[in-house]
Amino acid sequence: MAFFVQISLLRLMADNSKVRVRFAPSPTGALHIGGVRTALYNYLFARQHHGDFILRIEDTDSQRFVPGAEKYIIESLKWCGIQTDEGVEQGGPHAPYRQSERKEIYLTYAQQLVQSGNAYYAFDTADQLDALRKQAEADGKTFAYDYTVRQQLQTSLALPKEEVDARIARGDNYVIRFKMPENEDVQMDDIIRGHIVINTKTLDDKVLYKSADQLPTYHLANIVDDHLMEITHVIRGEEWLPSLPLHYLLYRAFGWQRPEFAHLPLLLKPQGQGKLSKRDGDKFGFPVFPLQWNAPDGSTAMGYRESGYLPEAFINMLALLGWNPGTEQELFSMQELIDTFSLDKVSKSGARFNPDKAKWFNAQYIRMADNNRLADIIAPLYAERGISVTPQRAAEAIALIKERATFPVDLVDLTQKLFIRPDAYDEKSVAKFWKADNVTRLAELRQILASEDLADPATAEARVHEWIKSNEYSMGQLMNTLRIAIWGVSQGPSIFHIIAFIGKDEALARIDAAAASLGQGA
Ligand code: GLU
Repeated sequence: MAFFVQISLLRLMADNSKVRVRFAPSPTGALHIGGVRTALYNYLFARQHHGDFILRIEDTDSQRFVPGAEKYIIESLKWCGIQTDEGVEQGGPHAPYRQSERKEIYLTYAQQLVQSGNAYYAFDTADQLDALRKQAEADGKTFAYDYTVRQQLQTSLALPKEEVDARIARGDNYVIRFKMPENEDVQMDDIIRGHIVINTKTLDDKVLYKSADQLPTYHLANIVDDHLMEITHVIRGEEWLPSLPLHYLLYRAFGWQRPEFAHLPLLLKPQGQGKLSKRDGDKFGFPVFPLQWNAPDGSTAMGYRESGYLPEAFINMLALLGWNPGTEQELFSMQELIDTFSLDKVSKSGARFNPDKAKWFNAQYIRMADNNRLADIIAPLYAERGISVTPQRAAEAIALIKERATFPVDLVDLTQKLFIRPDAYDEKSVAKFWKADNVTRLAELRQILASEDLADPATAEARVHEWIKSNEYSMGQLMNTLRIAIWGVSQGPSIFHIIAFIGKDEALARIDAAAASLGQGA
């Protein structure tokens, strides 16, 4: 494999051709995270080789077209920080980048294949094909439109030329099918999978073009556009591997140099076998889409963005689903991914999606994120809870607790009591520490706190500890009692940081409020 990778890189250097890759989704619904990973790997590969990354929309299948899907794809890539160099939005030297707008290009290419003997016209109607399928089924077989039948059916291989011309001239519907060689070993190379050989005996004559809607099928449009757009590397999901022999043969039939191919491993369900499906998200309670998807039928599916993931955490998590850097490093910025990503370290076998790991990445990125940015993110959440706080104060509060947060909403939960006095006290903590002795000592400690400047947490802590020790009080008992009064529970961030944050007056008021509410203790 390594040898092959070198060959493909050598080819690049020899050609002196610029790396050009594309992400070519069909707008059939929300973009699954597997699709985002494909886009990401293409993007990383392009950036690493100082090449171009193109977004092409493959919308020739009008039956499966879903309004809003293209916009969703574009917005998802933007949220992820995956920038396109050419595409439906910004245009470029090969515009248009939406296949439905390139309609008239494809027929000529299909006809070219008919002329060179690599394709043929077929006039069979849907009913005729249906009957053939049913007949095969009755005989216990599966119907395949291939070399065994193409001479007997309504094709330009079987009908006289005049009849074919006449049918086309009078506007009969036809398709153009690829004439798959009967018995040939197609020798293919894949950057990730190495050498692959498939015999054409098992392959049928795929439709390339349909006159009824004047549209090419995926195979023709994809190959023609990859050629015209000067794509050097096709990096796409494993589900396209079965199409590779046909694509190889199409390139040969056209006499075009083909790009290199890399088929990425599937994303698997968290538990057990099987492809991570669009339905798994709702079933298991984690998002499988980058953004919330509001389907035209009114249904919605959750997204990473709306679930509180930072885009860089999402990208980092995705990058490692199928690619192994070969080191212990787990946290990668986009630039580090660009620098270290390589297709020869992408695995052949499926990558199991792990929702807990996704959360772990988010927690790491929350820790690393700038506090002002986090404050901006949670400002609407504070507002929803009626907490009024300046961005500056929010950032300071976040700094105290961000280590404990996985999602932005945790930042709000964990900082809420810095802004609002606790209105309830944790029962377990109270049962354990709110005892008569402790409460009496807390009243003494209140005096000490009242006489100190509490603005610097370290100084305040040193002073209070010294006082507790000199009185030979129990540090644990007293500090936990203080914590209950100030924070409502005996666990939490550093109590002196909390006191410094809320200020002396509020700290003393909280001690008084706790005493009033909890009494003198048993
Ligand atoms: N339109 C195909 C898709 O939806 C593109 C496959 C390819 O990259 O060749 O994924």
